[in-house]
Amino acid sequence: MNIITKNSKETQKIAKLFAGEVLALKDDRKKALVVALNGELGAGKTTFVQGFVRGLGVKEDISSPTFLIMKKVQLHKHLLKNKDKKPVFRNLYHLDCYRLKSGKDLLDLDIKEIIEDSENIVLIEWAKNVKSILPKDLIRIDFEYKNEKERSINFSWGK
Ligand code: ADP
Ligand code: MG
Repeated sequence: MNIITKNSKETQKIAKLFAGEVLALKDDRKKALVVALNGELGAGKTTFVQGFVRGLGVKEDISSPTFLIMKKVQLHKHLLKNKDKKPVFRNLYHLDCYRLKSGKDLLDLDIKEIIEDSENIVLIEWAKNVKSILPKDLIRIDFEYKNEKERSINFSWGK
């Protein structure tokens, strides 16, 4: 599925809609829900994550974790906006792998355990840099810079 957004607000709106869909998911996942975000610098990945996190009902601001690599948000502390208000997910992890060369660089951060835990949502910017640690089943979102204000956002399944 491909969507063109005409400004960052639109990208955040799409991300909020997507968050709603994720909360409504009634699948029997055994592992974390992993969302792999790819696209050049400035393509809109962090903007999308900000909208997504807002869409989950989180009030705190999500900055770009470029210098942190990984940021954790405890979702159960927020009122998740799913219909029956059940905390389907407990934690959200936001990673920025811009500076990483391989998935091995994430092993010290216990990424394997994080991905094994079905109560986690894991959003990974620059996922293509850490392919070796990505699970087979993931939601892939590719961002493309079209011009100053337009971005193409493509949703698909798998690596
Ligand atoms: P990335 O995380 O991919 O490096 P960011 O989300 O940090 O990208 O930055 C995107 C930049 O582009 C922001 O400054 C944002 O305001 C701007 N921008 C302009 N148009 C759009 C759009 N349609 N969608 C997302 N961001 C946009
Ligand atoms: Mg970013």
